[in-house]
Order: sequence, then structure tokens, then C-alpha cells
Amino acid sequence: MPERYDIIIIGTGAGGGTLAHALAPSGKKILLLERGNFLPREMGNWDPEAVFVDGKYISADTWYDADGSSFQPQVHYFVGGATKMYGAALYRLRPQDFGDIRHVDGISPAWPLTYDDFEPWYSEAEWLYQVHGHHGDDPTEGHWSKQYPWPAVSHEPRIQQLFDDLEKGGYHPFHAPCGILLDEADRPRSTCIKCTWCDGYPCLVHAKSDAEVIAVRPILDLPNVTLLVNAEVTNLESDAAGRTVTGVVVSRGGNEETYEADVVAVSAGAANSAKILLRSANDQHPNGLANGSDQVGRNYMFHNSKAVVALSKELNETLYQKTLGLNDFYFGSDDYEFPIGNIQMVGKSNAQAMKGEEPKLTKLAPHWSLADTAEHAVDFWLTTEDLPTPDNRVTVDGDGNVHLAYSSTNDDEADRLYQELKTIMNHVGLAQHHVLDKNFYMDMNIAVAGCAHQAGTCRFGADPATSVLDADCKAHEVDNLYVVDTSFFPSIGAVNPALTAMANALRVGDHLLQRMK
Ligand SMILES: Cc1cc2nc3c(=O)[nH]c(=O)nc-3n(C[C@H](O)[C@H](O)[C@H](O)COP(=O)(O)OP(=O)(O)OC[C@H]3O[C@@H](n4cnc5c(N)ncnc54)[C@H](O)[C@@H]3O)c2cc1C
Repeated sequence: MPERYDIIIIGTGAGGGTLAHALAPSGKKILLLERGNFLPREMGNWDPEAVFVDGKYISADTWYDADGSSFQPQVHYFVGGATKMYGAALYRLRPQDFGDIRHVDGISPAWPLTYDDFEPWYSEAEWLYQVHGHHGDDPTEGHWSKQYPWPAVSHEPRIQQLFDDLEKGGYHPFHAPCGILLDEADRPRSTCIKCTWCDGYPCLVHAKSDAEVIAVRPILDLPNVTLLVNAEVTNLESDAAGRTVTGVVVSRGGNEETYEADVVAVSAGAANSAKILLRSANDQHPNGLANGSDQVGRNYMFHNSKAVVALSKELNETLYQKTLGLNDFYFGSDDYEFPIGNIQMVGKSNAQAMKGEEPKLTKLAPHWSLADTAEHAVDFWLTTEDLPTPDNRVTVDGDGNVHLAYSSTNDDEADRLYQELKTIMNHVGLAQHHVLDKNFYMDMNIAVAGCAHQAGTCRFGADPATSVLDADCKAHEVDNLYVVDTSFFPSIGAVNPALTAMANALRVGDHLLQRMK
């Protein structure tokens, strides 16, 4: 008889890792199945050539787009999942994001729960992930029951200057919420060295609040927690009635193994969670497990995002650049009725990384700037909400390959955001004081392979005809199956998704503790 667990969690990222952390103190027998291994701590972690040019930490997967063209998705299979590489900008959705919002290309649909339902879990997630910030600074944020556990990370001089200029220009910048292990008041206890290698890089000194460091490692010594790495779940087996998952089939070390548990939580990331369910089709679930609604894999979202690098002759010697955010256009602007999006700083760029990411554009950059881009660039990340549409979807072919069909939505809003940023740069004096006549903006649209913010493929909702999961993230059609990662998002808002995935995992964890009593 194979060993039986109380719960199997598939994937150890923001969703799965956090869920495991929430359940571990209960003593319940937990099996974590992770497709990847621990990300090695090596100098390559902080080498832009290795990370951005060679793509050392990107999976070797091949996926296919709607035309059948192959591409290498920017997914990361490690203990901690995508959070090993993330920028740890840990934002809450706005309260309005939980309701219907009218966009230029359609409606961003309401969630079955409200911001009030999520608020306690947001607070808990912010404390668990040691978020630095200051509630009350961002005029668009919702109410909070607890201040952040750590004060906002201080701006370095160039970003403070930008912050002051924005305020003088009538904007409302705020300290962005950052998940890093840093104590600015007591340097000796700090582990974070405030370097440029944060956003898009693994943290060599384990000072980023990622799911491995915060959620998974601390529970591995517990006798009730087992982690199997290099264990790729291929499919789930269910009973004759199709109401219960009876086996989790794993490919490990060239062998096929099957594990059993009372409850199974799929947390493999939005595309791979859909893949697992679709590959688990059987007589009772001919279109894929829990897919009687034909919604599994549909409504894939990943944000309409743009990285913008402003180059100027003035030096920008900032190391940790991600301290500033701006939501003045989140819900629109004076002359535009639709939501536009969020502006934040992205990790400090450097010439090697930019060459790796966008070789054609960088060839156009003036020689003086690229030669020492790290000292001249001011880097922004623009996020506009994309809408869940049924044709933006993950499907799986007979060989088990992922096909990802995606057309962007709300391009007009995304263009607006870019225009607003250009206006800001001129308004706040960047052009006068910091950007000389040679200044130009390099912009990079994020193509389908950049699936960092993937979400929505198993959305939760009250109606089994239009959603895969109920409000507890349990599959409508299967009694012991949960999906606990960004798949559950019915809409994605215009802020980074990880904190919402973490908060939701804590929320579902609480439900599971009640259930497993
Ligand atoms: C470069 C980068 C920067 C980002 N920056 C930010 C940011 O600043 N703020 C933010 O909020 N978000 C950011 N994100 C997004 C954020 O990391 C994700 O939204 C979040 O990690 C998603 O959580 P998840 O649990 O859905 O998936 P993941 O965290 O990806 O976890 C999925 C896990 O499942 C495993 N897995 C996959 N398939 C299988 C299988 N078949 N069997 C077993 N295991 C499997 C994977 O290896 C992985 O460990 C960023 C992402 C990237 C890549």
C-alpha cells in the first residue's frame, strides 16, 4: 500500500508554498510535489549575461502559440516557483477590482468575494512575506486592518528626486510595497544588501521574500511535511463516479509513481494547473477533470505590460530602484473614462540584460548611453489590466504540449498609460533637469512568452456553468480537488498578482484546516 497523505500540494510557488506553510503547523501529513529542484545559489544568480542573455533559469519547455509556432515560455521550475525570480512588488488589488469594471474593450468581471473578504488575508500575507511599505500613502488603496510589518524602504537619491518632482507636479507617488528581508534601522541584522539583482534575478543571499525562503524552507524540518523535488505531476486519477481524486500520478527519475491523499491542491501555476486538469480527462470528465463547464484553460490573462527605460545623460546610481509606485491613472484620467493602469519602477537595467531582452531596440540607443546604461537608465514598469476572454486559453495536444492562444485587450488603455508616463517625464522636469536633448524612451512590449503574471485558467465563481472553482477554490465537480495558485483569478486588476495568490492560499488554507478537522 502506498503511503497516504492528508493533503498533496502540487507546486511550491506563491500559491502552493504559502498553502503548505499555512497547513504545516496543524500536523496534517502533507506531501509537496515540485517539478523543479532547489535553485542553486551560485554567482550566476547575479549575472545578467547568465540570467537575461543565456536564460539560465528559464525552463526548457516548448510551448506553441495560436499559429502553432513554438516558443520558450519564461517559466521557472524551482522550489518557490516564479517567486524565485520575481521582483517581490507585493501589491493588494484595489477594492473596486473585486467588482465589475468597465474597460475600453469590455467588462472586467466581479469576483464572487469582496475586498472585505480578502482584507484579513492580505494583512496576514503581508506579515508572513515581511512586506515593507506604508498603508495610507496610495490614494487608491483599500482599507487595511494592520499596518505593514516593516517601514517602507527608503528611496535612494535619484528616486527620491523623482518622488519629489512628481509631488511638485501634482501627482501622488507612494512607497511601493516590497517583499525583502531588510532592516534599515539596524543594519547588522539586515540580510538584504539593496543590490540591483532583485527583479528578474534569484537572490543569492536569500534576502528576497520568495516562497522558498519564507514559506517552504521553514517547514521542511517538520515530521509531517515531505517535499519531493524533480517530481512532475502528469495527471490525476479519479474514482468511478468522477467525484474524488484517488491518485496523483508523478513522473520522477524516469519512473511513474502514484500518490494518494484525502485532499489534492493543484498549484502548478495558471498554465500548468490547466494542463494537469486537461490531461486528466476520463470517462466521467471527457473534456478534462472538473471541466464540464469547458472553462479550464480559458480566460488566460497576464497583464498588458510594458517595460520602459528612460535614458538620460544624468547619472542614476540607484541600486534598489523598486521603491516608488504611482496609481494616479489606475481608474482613468481627466480626459479618459476607462482605467489606465499602474506605474512602478522595475529593477535597475543594465546594458547586458537589455541586449539579451531586446537586441534590436538597444542597437538604436546612442552609444554613450548603452556603454554605461546602468548609470543612466531610469526604469519603469507599466501595467494595464487585460480582460478574461474565452479564446485566450491554454489547451494541450495529444503529446501533452501546452498551446497558448492569446490576443491582447485594452491596448488603447495601455497606450494611454505610456502617453501619461511620457507626459509625466516632461511635467516633473525630467526633460529639463535630468533628460537632455538626446533623451529618448525605449519601450518593450511583453510578448506571449513573458508569462510572468499568468492567471485565470480555472476561475472561481458561484456558477458551475461559468467557473471551475467555488468560492473556496474547490472544483465544483470534484469533492476533494482544489486549485490554489493564480488560476483562480476571475480578473487580474492592474497590480502584480503574487500577494493576492498568497493571501488566497492563506484563506483556502484556513478553509482546509476546518475541513480536515
Ligand atoms: C521575472 C518575474 C518577475 C515577477 N515580479 C513580480 C512582482 O514583482 N510582484 C508580483 O506580485 N508578481 C511578480 N511576478 C509573478 C509572480 O511570481 C507569480 O504571479 C506567482 O509566483 C504565481 O504563483 P503561482 O503559485 O500561481 O505559480 P508559481 O509561483 O510559478 O508556482 C508554480 C509551481 O508549480 C511547479 N510546477 C509546475 N508544473 C508542475 C507539475 N506538473 N508538477 C509539479 N510541480 C509543477 C513549478 O515548478 C512552480 O514551483 C513575477 C514573475 C516573474 C517570472
